[in-house]
Amino acid sequence: MLSRVSRARAAVPRVMAARRFTLNTTTTSYPTDHIKEGTEPYITPSFQDGKFFQSAADKWIDIHDPATNVVVSRVPQSTHAEIDAAIESAQNAFEGWKNTSIIRRQQVAFKFVQLLRENFDRLAAIMVTENGKTWDDALGDALRGIQCAEQAVNIVNDLKAESLEVATDMETKMVREPLGVVASIAPFNFPAMVPLWTLPFVFATGNTCVLKPSERVPGAAMIISELATKAGVPPGVLNVIHGQHDTVNQILDDPRIKAVTFVGGDKAAKYIYERSAQTGKRCQANGAAKNHMVILPDANKAQAVNAVIGAAMGACGQRCMAISVLVTVGKTKEWVSDIIAEAQKLVVGSGFDKKSHFGPLINPSSLTRAEQIIDDSVKAGAKLLLDGRGYKPADPRLAKGNFLGPTILGEVKPGMRCYDEEIFAPVLSVVNTETLEEAVNFVNKNPFGNGVSVFTASGASAQYFTKRIECGQVGVNVPIPVPLPMFSFTGSKQSFLGDLNFYGKAGVTFLTKPKTITSSWKQDLIDGEILSPSTSMPVQK
Ligand code: NAD
Repeated sequence: MLSRVSRARAAVPRVMAARRFTLNTTTTSYPTDHIKEGTEPYITPSFQDGKFFQSAADKWIDIHDPATNVVVSRVPQSTHAEIDAAIESAQNAFEGWKNTSIIRRQQVAFKFVQLLRENFDRLAAIMVTENGKTWDDALGDALRGIQCAEQAVNIVNDLKAESLEVATDMETKMVREPLGVVASIAPFNFPAMVPLWTLPFVFATGNTCVLKPSERVPGAAMIISELATKAGVPPGVLNVIHGQHDTVNQILDDPRIKAVTFVGGDKAAKYIYERSAQTGKRCQANGAAKNHMVILPDANKAQAVNAVIGAAMGACGQRCMAISVLVTVGKTKEWVSDIIAEAQKLVVGSGFDKKSHFGPLINPSSLTRAEQIIDDSVKAGAKLLLDGRGYKPADPRLAKGNFLGPTILGEVKPGMRCYDEEIFAPVLSVVNTETLEEAVNFVNKNPFGNGVSVFTASGASAQYFTKRIECGQVGVNVPIPVPLPMFSFTGSKQSFLGDLNFYGKAGVTFLTKPKTITSSWKQDLIDGEILSPSTSMPVQK
C-alpha cells in the first residue's frame, strides 16, 4: 500500500499532465463591461508548481455576474488528488524557501508590490465581474491588499532576532522561524484584499501556502498567483486549490498543514477554528460582524450623515466592517430624516457604471434572505423608514441582477432579526438612546466586536467611549476604522477566534514560531582539564 506522501507524489504527474494555460486577462486586457449572455464561460484554472492547469474535477461550480446573473466562469471542486498534490508541492518547496536569504525574499516582496500596482485595473475588473462591486470600490479592495504587500517589505525589521548575554561568555538569541505550509481560506466579499492580508507575509516570513479562494470569486486570487510567480515566488511556494466544504475539510485534516488563516462567516469560522485545534493547527479566524455607529448631539451633522450612509450602503453592505446599526443619542434621532433623504439619492446599478454608488448582492439567495429579514423585522415591530425591496436599475441588461436599494429600519430592538443577525446587505437599523452611557452599554451587549465608531466634537466624550467600548476596532469620527497594516486587523469578541490577528506585528508572530539558541564560548577553557560535572541546576547567590 502506498504511504500518504507516495500517493501524493503519484498524483502529481496526473495533475500536471492536464491542459495548461494562461489567464484570460492581462495587465492591459480585461473586461470593462458585463459579459454577454451566451458567451462560453471561462474555465477557472488551478495553480500548482508555478503553473496554471485545468482541473480534472467532475464537479464544477457556476460563477454568475451578480448584476446580470449570466454565468461568466466555472470553478472546479478540486479533486482529492489535486488537493493532496498541492499540499505536497508546498511542503516540498518549504525547506528551500525557508533557507532563501531574507534579503532575497525582501526583493521578491518589492517586485510583488510593483506588479500588483501595475495590475490595479485588471484586479478591479475581475472583482466587478465576479463580485459586483463598483469599479472604485474594487480599486479600494486591491489597494488595501497592496498596502499589506508594501508592509511585508519591512520584514527585515519585523524578523530581527533578540539577543542578550545572559551569563559570562553565554548568550541567548531568540529567532522566529517559519511554520511550514499555511492554508489560507478566503470569503467572497474581498477577493483581492483578504488573500493579500496573508500571502505577502507568508512569502516574506519563508512559509509556503495553499490558498483556497472563495468559490464565488476566484479570479483575483488567480491574478495574484500569476503576479507572485512573476515577482520571483518559486514554484510550490504558492498553490491554489478550489472548492467548498470538501476542500476545506481536507485542508483541516492534513498534518502537513501547520496553520490556517480563515476569513468568512461565523459558522464556518467556529467550525474551522475548532477543527484546526483538534488537528493541532494554529488558527486565526475572522468571522461575522454587527457594527454600530453612535452619533452624539455635538457631532458635525453633515459629516455624520455622510459617514453613516457610506459605511452602511457602500459595497451593498457586504463588508465585515459595514455599519449596520445606527445608535442615535438624544436629539440626533431627528437626523434620521436627513439620512433617509440622502440615502434615497444613491444610485444602485452596474459596477462598471461610474454613476453607481453600489452594485448588487452576491447571489439571489442573499437577496431573498435580506428581503425576508426586512419582512420578519417589520412584523416584529420595526418601522420601515426606507424600503429598497424591488429596486430596479435603469439599465435593462440588469433586470435579472440581485439588486436591493438602500433600506432603513427604525425603532429596532434586540430580538428582531435585523438586529440579531448579520444581514450583509444595504440595510441600516436605527436604535435610539438618550445618553452616551446608555449607547455604550447597548453596544457592549452585542456579541460581535469587529468595529464601532462614535461621532462627536468632544474629546472627553470620545475618551469615555474609547475606554469603555468592548470592540476591537474603534473609530472616532471615522466610520470604518480598519487600521493600515503597520497595525493589525483587531476584530474581537465573536468576530475573531484566535490569539494573533491578521497582518502587522501580530500577523508576523502568527506565521512564525520562536526558537532560542543559548551558546557558551568560554574564554578560560583549558583543553584536557575535566572539572567535576555539575548535576544541579545553576543557583544564583
Ligand atoms: P463563508 O463563511 O460562506 O465562506 C468563507 C470561506 O469558507 C469560503 O472559502 C467557503 O468556501 C468556506 N466555507 C463556508 N462554509 C464552510 C463550511 N461549513 N465548512 C468549510 N468551509 C466553509 O463567508 P462568505 O459568505 O464568503 O463571506 C462573508 C462573511 O465573511 C460575512 O459573514 C463577513 O462578515 C465575513 N467577513 C469577515 C471579515 C473579518 O475580517 N471579520 C472580513 C471579510 C468577511
